[in-house]
This record gives sequence, C-alpha cells and structure tokens, in this order.
Amino acid sequence: MSECIFCKIATGAIPSEKIMDNNTFFVIKDIRPKAPVHLLLIPHQHIPSLLEVDPSHGALLGNMLLGLKSLAKQYELDGFRTIINSGQSSGQEVFHLHFHLLANNTNTSQQRLPGF
Ligand code: AMP
Ligand code: ZN
Repeated sequence: MSECIFCKIATGAIPSEKIMDNNTFFVIKDIRPKAPVHLLLIPHQHIPSLLEVDPSHGALLGNMLLGLKSLAKQYELDGFRTIINSGQSSGQEVFHLHFHLLANNTNTSQQRLPGF
C-alpha cells in the first residue's frame, strides 16, 4: 500500500473527519490549523504536486477550484485564502497535491488574515 498519508486518509486506513467527499476530491480539517478555518482539499488521485500536472488534470483542477467556492458558501465565509505549496523549496511537506483553504470565522471577518 502507498506510504502517502493522504492516500491512507482517502482509503480510510488513517481515520479523519471528512467535511465532504465526492468522486474527485475530499476535504478534511488541517491537523495543525494556521487560521480559525483551515481546510485541505485533496484529490483522490495521487498527484505529488502542481509540478506534475498536465492538461489531462484540467477538469480535476477546475472542480477543486469550484469546491473552494462551495466550501466558502457552506462556512458562510466572506473571504478566504488558498495556498498550494508545490515542491520542497515552497515548504510542501506532504507530496500529494492539496489546496489549503484558510479563513477567519464569519464573526471575526473584520480581521484580515496575517501575511501577504
Ligand atoms: P504542505 O506544507 O502544503 O504540504 O501542507 C501539509 C499540511 O497537511 C500541513 O498543514 C499539515 O498540518 C497537514 N497534515 C499533515 N498530516 C495531516 C493529517 N493526518 N490530517 C490533517 N492534516 C494533516
Ligand atoms: Zn497520495
């Protein structure tokens, strides 16, 4: 079996609290949150990072971007930040593509996320 932690979460070999799951990707809460809302969108397909994608992944990537908007609506967010670390020098730690969704809770939305 793959040693990849996100592949293990995908199959249920490692337990997780899944926010949602469809044929393309699933969403979990980050175990070490960097913001009041910190979710990870993870494709079922094992793709190490954006450095390895090609045009055949276009629909998958588009669906994941649309998924960010659905989650923003579900969590009643008035804004969110997306981070996609790609490659070791970017700080990527888990080499299975994932989109970070970071946001403040709605009731603290006056407050800007730090950085950038
Ligand atoms: P990155 O640096 O972009 O590769 O981010 C990997 C993220 O995965 C980090 O923010 C970790 O906190 C998160 N993470 C690692 N293991 C788990 C896990 N078992 N469940 C949820 N999040 C995890
Ligand atoms: Zn994987």
